[in-house]
Amino acid sequence: MPGSLKRNRMAENIPFNKPSLIGNEIKYIRDAVRRGQLAGDGTYTRWCNERIRHLTGSGTALLTHSCTAALEMAAILCDLGPGDEVIMPSFTFVSTANAVVLRGATPVFVDIDPDTLNIDPAEVAKYVTPRTRAIFAVHYAGFPADMDALAAIASKHGLMLVEDAAQALGSTYKGRPAGSLGHMAAFSFHETKNVISGEGGALTINVPDLARRAEIIREKGTNRSQFFRGQVDKYTWVDLGSSYLPGELIAAYLFAQLESESAIRTRRLSVFDAYQEAFQPLAEGNRVGLPKVPPHCTGNGHMFYLLMEDQEARSAFIARMKEQNIATPFHYVPLHSAPAGRRFGHTPGAMAVTDRISDTLVRLPMYFDLGSDIETVIEAAFRALEEA
Ligand SMILES: *Cc1c(COP(=O)(O)O)cnc(C)c1O
Repeated sequence: MPGSLKRNRMAENIPFNKPSLIGNEIKYIRDAVRRGQLAGDGTYTRWCNERIRHLTGSGTALLTHSCTAALEMAAILCDLGPGDEVIMPSFTFVSTANAVVLRGATPVFVDIDPDTLNIDPAEVAKYVTPRTRAIFAVHYAGFPADMDALAAIASKHGLMLVEDAAQALGSTYKGRPAGSLGHMAAFSFHETKNVISGEGGALTINVPDLARRAEIIREKGTNRSQFFRGQVDKYTWVDLGSSYLPGELIAAYLFAQLESESAIRTRRLSVFDAYQEAFQPLAEGNRVGLPKVPPHCTGNGHMFYLLMEDQEARSAFIARMKEQNIATPFHYVPLHSAPAGRRFGHTPGAMAVTDRISDTLVRLPMYFDLGSDIETVIEAAFRALEEA
């Protein structure tokens, strides 16, 4: 071990993610304080909404506390209740399913496509029942799911189509941006995503009636937004709702990031491309699997992952990267096999792809300021793979 330490250039400690500070965040937070409104729906929230609406090509965008909150709003807007089913991938973050369970409805987990790791439309079509109300599609690693195929199924059966676009700000499908592809889409600005505000999110809505109701749900079920626009002379409780809107300080930080969305995406895509190029020879020799850009899609450099031979190979890789001070986590424990997934969900079919991917996928460091440390990561990964 000491010998190999001497031989190998040791990394400083390369984390898996580092929150970015682009430039104007503090200036805008000071300005928000100076403007005197710290509660939500002030100037910065409006500017963020407008930016997100523009970036996503959607009808309406509403800032929320998190993508989790946006998904909960989407579940309310789908009018989900006990007995209803929502088809979704099992290979996703827990919030996709929790939003449905909180309405008393049942998440129905189906398998993913082995190339895109997104929900497989053929599997969705197989498991539509008279109780199905919606499809929640996740754009994994920022690459949009096959939305035309999903929209065809949704329209045939009268289902709602919701994008979990937590990872997909700035990505496109057939030239259309994520967020404009379903009836609604949920975005995340958590510090592990591309554009951040610590915690944060947005719901985009492409159906005017839903947008009107969303505004009320987000304001604790009141028509307060209409009151502030002078459309009603007092505001009152008119629908279900909760507190889903963030304060102005969060919005001010986020606005600075949104202004730089394109620069952030370009930088991350160059990291993605550099990883892709470096590992290509190993992929050709079938040593590792690499992300495949789905047909007709552009990504946003959200994530880079390797697919290992099996779970043992992955554990060995992670351990060898850790010895070199580089964090390479994996995810997700498939929801269909998690304790709460078994309790609240339903899994009608085989989950072979999901099970294999969740055993073999490992994520490499990916963040705005990664810079030349990417060389260290690539060298360390090659060493880790050679020792295997
Ligand atoms: C990050 C993430 C979420 C949750 O986002 P928050 O803003 O932390 O609530 C939901 N779904 C997916 C696919 C995610 O990657």
